Amino acid sequence: MNAIGVAAPTLVVSGMTPLTTIDFPDHLACVLYTQGCSLRCRYCHNPQLIPTATADPGLAWEEIDHFLQRRQGLLEAVVFSGGEPCLQPALAEAMSAVKARGFKVGLHTAGVSPGRLASVLPLVDWVGLDVKAPAHRYQQVTGRRHQARTNRHSLQLLLDSGVAFECRTTLDWRLFSAEETCQLAQELADLGVTRYAIQINQGRQCLDPELEQPVILPGGQLTALQQTMQKLFPVFEWREG
Ligand code: SF4
Repeated sequence: MNAIGVAAPTLVVSGMTPLTTIDFPDHLACVLYTQGCSLRCRYCHNPQLIPTATADPGLAWEEIDHFLQRRQGLLEAVVFSGGEPCLQPALAEAMSAVKARGFKVGLHTAGVSPGRLASVLPLVDWVGLDVKAPAHRYQQVTGRRHQARTNRHSLQLLLDSGVAFECRTTLDWRLFSAEETCQLAQELADLGVTRYAIQINQGRQCLDPELEQPVILPGGQLTALQQTMQKLFPVFEWREG
């Protein structure tokens, strides 16, 4: 039992960023990285978070809870990231414990488990949903089949929920083109997505070593792509870092 009389959640957490300003918009937050992911994105720069089981026991919830108690009044939110938090059976329990400490809850997910996403949405204040690729490229990017459909299901749950969220896509021009990126963005805008971010693969510590050299789109094409995106979404960010 912890200090507020609740059994400690059994969330498998491999690490933490104690302070961030970029993982939950306009909030000071910490990030908890859960262990395990069902996708195999070729550009994944946290491949150590993919295996479900590791020799490293990670962070016990008591340790996390102790940290959160000391940050009350200083941090505003806790973001569950990964790996893939929605694969964790204890996710709702952990989110409830965080809310009981007075923090907002953020979630980063690739939308691989619509069922779990639906079950935790009532606890969540903000979601960053990865949309990995246009549907016809999804398997090539993630190494897994049928994920485009599953991701779209998760997106529809978010659209229907009223919970604030952004969609984001990591770009590497070896995986799909600027034109395909525009088509994907148009689809998302047509569905009602209002906040979108493009993240450029920086080629650091990729799961697939072939993607470890960054590839740059010629300047003219890049500017045209950015201008198209800015027109499609009320909030659009281009992230290269
Ligand atoms: S980048 Fe892909 S493989 Fe890596 S943790 Fe995220 S969803 Fe999983």
